[in-house]
Amino acid sequence: IPIERIRNFSIIAHVDHGKSTLADRLLEFTGAITKNSGQNQVLDKLQVERERGITVKAQSVSLLYNYKGNEYLLNLIDTPGHVDFSSEVSRSLSACQGVILVVDANDGVQAQTVANFYLAFGKDLTIVPVLNKIDLKNADPDRVTKQLQSLFDIEPQEVLRISAKLGTGIQSVIEALIERISPPKVDRTAPFRALLFDSWFDKYRGALSLIYIQDGEINVGDEVQSCHSQKTYSIKSLSLLRPQEVVTKKLVAGQIGLIGCNMRTSKEAFIGDTIHLSSCPVEPLQGFEPPQPMVFAGVYPMDQSQHVNLRSAIDKLTLNDSAVSVDIDSSPALGQGWRLGFLGLLHLEVFSQRLQQEYGAEPILTAPSVTYKITLKETKQNIKTGREIFVNNPALWPDTVHIEETFEPMVIGTIITPDKYLGPIMSLCMERRGVQRNATNIDNDRVMLQYDLPLCEIIIDFHDSLKTISSGYASFDYEDNGYQSSNLVKLRILLNGTAVEELSNIVHISKAQSIGRKMVLKLKEMIPRQMIQIAVQAVCNGKILARETIKAYRKDVTAKLYGGDVTRRMKLLAQQAAGKKKMRMVANISLPRETFIDVLKK
Ligand code: GDP
Ligand code: MG
Repeated sequence: IPIERIRNFSIIAHVDHGKSTLADRLLEFTGAITKNSGQNQVLDKLQVERERGITVKAQSVSLLYNYKGNEYLLNLIDTPGHVDFSSEVSRSLSACQGVILVVDANDGVQAQTVANFYLAFGKDLTIVPVLNKIDLKNADPDRVTKQLQSLFDIEPQEVLRISAKLGTGIQSVIEALIERISPPKVDRTAPFRALLFDSWFDKYRGALSLIYIQDGEINVGDEVQSCHSQKTYSIKSLSLLRPQEVVTKKLVAGQIGLIGCNMRTSKEAFIGDTIHLSSCPVEPLQGFEPPQPMVFAGVYPMDQSQHVNLRSAIDKLTLNDSAVSVDIDSSPALGQGWRLGFLGLLHLEVFSQRLQQEYGAEPILTAPSVTYKITLKETKQNIKTGREIFVNNPALWPDTVHIEETFEPMVIGTIITPDKYLGPIMSLCMERRGVQRNATNIDNDRVMLQYDLPLCEIIIDFHDSLKTISSGYASFDYEDNGYQSSNLVKLRILLNGTAVEELSNIVHISKAQSIGRKMVLKLKEMIPRQMIQIAVQAVCNGKILARETIKAYRKDVTAKLYGGDVTRRMKLLAQQAAGKKKMRMVANISLPRETFIDVLKK
């Protein structure tokens, strides 16, 4: 297929606005899958994605379509919609010349619509605006068209109206793609040059990488080299995704394809790398900004016998998800483990769910933390040096006497909401130490708010709280905004007088008391009664802020059963045994596996 008949595009949208459904319709319409094959949301491959209804991993597929007598190759890259994954969206967009911006004709423009629009706009991509769900009774496409016009200067006549669910208007989408988006600027006669933009680990074939071929061509057996590592590999397999793998001997510029080349370890497939023929070095393509992990948590095996298995599971999953950063960590209570960095809390939860589902690993996760900046009181030859350190693990927080000043990472949060929820939303932002930047009406009864917020205040349950107080109508997205000086202290949790570092937490001084109180109550609720009485204390700068006691339990849970119903007794004993398995001994007390992360949730 000649280059003029190639289109590389992505679908971007706020979560649930219908990206995956539209992708399925495009696959059906072009004959890549058969209608009513029961394969809903073909591109959402992972089990977690199906369960949570979100797209985590960007997937790509090549479609063929005959338009006005010519065959076109349409390369579709599916992107995740959730705020945590905006770096994956950005990565996918680097291989595209245009995007379909899907907006729910009922919900209208939402926070991620705004964020995604600017990502695409910033990369100078052609934007094809599409209103979806026009079949809904409450759909108001005219109103949403006006929102697009007032926020993004989009001309109303450019906006398509479809129902991905019913399959109406799909042809108009394909034709708009072909007519409006320009073909890629590639050179098939130049030496081979390709962008590695995604990679995952296949249990049987090792690392597989998705590449976008900018120049030249590649054949099975060719020797390639990575610009990043300088390592060379021999190409073992080449394939196209349609959406099932179609093996091929050759890939040419303008195509997106999958390469297998015997990369042995997770670390070798570097997202954003440029690949070329070993015999023919090239100028690297512009890569991506590496995603910055924002939220860190300790990950430990339930017991050290599982250490090796957990390590190999983490290695494989991080190949699949290069946004996760990995450092070795150890803790007095939990032993050898890792400190992993994630893009956000959902990203962390998805990662741990995948460890469980795909690799059967059941690790302990500690409470998430952000990266704080500290200047130290240090004097060298009587001169204050004010050395700067970064700490993402509360266990490594320096002693108060050494601290000169503390800083915390900030974000600019964007919230779009119907104006009737404005009051409670503004209170929530205040409670989270937010400072309002501006408020804009986007139509008669909808407002866009922007707040400066500390990152640590939004990583745990901000999004959930926002959804609850707005009956699900408010949406949220955020971007990084550097560090700000802030009065931070370490809140320690003591169990029977022993500090449990894994439960300690960095908090703003104004909130130490209330968070300490909440954590203690939550622990009282979460820790089951045991043989000994347990005192739970929250301590800050040597002062006890809160205390609760968990009474010792009755020896035998079945003793209280009169009559001795045997099956009931067996069941209870089995439950007790199963319960024990998921416990971890810390300071002579057994804690449920989830304690470390759940203690901070409401
Ligand atoms: P994504 O999160 O953007 O990938 O959204 P999905 O494609 O998973 O769709 C979210 C929900 O909206 C699903 O329950 C779909 O069935 C539904 N949906 C998608 N398109 C339409 C449509 O055109 N009309 C209606 N009524 N529902 C739709
Ligand atoms: Mg989806």
